[in-house]
Amino acid sequence: MSPGCADAPIRKERGQREVFCGLTGIVWLHRKLQDAFFLVVGSRTCAHLLQSAAGVMIFAEPRFATAIIGERDLAGRADLDEELDRVVGRLLARRPDIKLLFLVGSCPSEVIKLDLARAAARLSRLHAPAVRVLAYSGSGIETTFTQGEDACLAALVPTLPEERRAAPPSLLVVGALADIVEDQLRRLFEGLGIAPVRFLPPRRSAEMPPVGPGTRVLLAQPWLGETMRALEERGARHLPALFPLGAEGTTAWLAAAAAAFGVPEGRFRAITEPGAERARKAVERQRPLLAGKRLFLFPDSQLEVPLARFLHGELGLVPVEVGTPYLHRAHLAPELALLPAGTPLVEGQDVDAQLDRCRTLLPDLVVCGLGLANPLEAEGFTTKWSIELVFTPIQGYDQAADLAELFARPLVRRTRLVA
Ligand code: SF4
Repeated sequence: MSPGCADAPIRKERGQREVFCGLTGIVWLHRKLQDAFFLVVGSRTCAHLLQSAAGVMIFAEPRFATAIIGERDLAGRADLDEELDRVVGRLLARRPDIKLLFLVGSCPSEVIKLDLARAAARLSRLHAPAVRVLAYSGSGIETTFTQGEDACLAALVPTLPEERRAAPPSLLVVGALADIVEDQLRRLFEGLGIAPVRFLPPRRSAEMPPVGPGTRVLLAQPWLGETMRALEERGARHLPALFPLGAEGTTAWLAAAAAAFGVPEGRFRAITEPGAERARKAVERQRPLLAGKRLFLFPDSQLEVPLARFLHGELGLVPVEVGTPYLHRAHLAPELALLPAGTPLVEGQDVDAQLDRCRTLLPDLVVCGLGLANPLEAEGFTTKWSIELVFTPIQGYDQAADLAELFARPLVRRTRLVA
């Protein structure tokens, strides 16, 4: 018999959705790729979304903008191409620091079938070698907000340099991580003797990692299905692992790399045990408050399955429903195996049906999108915004305590409100 939810049936729902679109990814991607610029080709709505998402998160910098498709643009395609060339020309003349420019598609640009890939190729030729121009879609048609990162990284993969033929195996960590987390992980890999280790996305466009049959990939985020597929087309190999959330997740994630690179067991334990012990102790402090609490996760960020595994395994919460917008069975297999057998798993969204189930199950803690959190709080539920988990450094041993605290805080707040 397979463990946990490894082979559990997944209920698929298609209905009304309450999620942000892929443009949201620009908020964390523009901080990571420090010489890139994201030019959304969209409407005033897109501009507002981006401004408010970035504004809410305070660290807005002008490395993104929206080229607004106006009514005149909608009249003829030739005009729009010329307009785009003009906007990009002006931008690059004013900002010589930009080395990589993303044209980001939106619902309006998709509806009028604006071919941004062709525009990017044309503009790349025009501005080479100083600037590379790529295109991807951040549209909200049938997508959720973390797919913006997947689409962005998948667009980068074909442009990555080829790894030298005789090069020894290399480790590629894929998925945007806060710099502080990346530095901690880099030190752990150094301690384990794994080299070379590279990250995608890198901090600067001149540091794009080479890829080839010797590349072993650890996914740092669970929403990178398209990126991984593109990397596999270049010969890279995925290392199945838990995601690096909590002590257990981080150890298992590092262990997958250690096994692939032949790190001796003793060395692995010596390097990882101090961090794992620190993380276990720090997480343990939140256990009395959280253990036994019933948890309902609405589909939003695609972090839901790894989060449920962490919250159940290390803090003793009981998941009563785990919803996720998309469930990549292969990439999530190690996570699913650790969920308690019988946990209801839902892929996709039918928000009314999910709200009904939530009201019937009366969970102690609800993880959901911003749009649902306030109404649910008003009904007396305790909620946690899932988008906060995407913007906060939560991976690795030294962030495990913060991750646990993010779930303890709403319960503490609710207790205070009630008292
Ligand atoms: S891309 Fe679509 S969903 Fe996103 S802000 Fe623009 S119009 Fe709205």
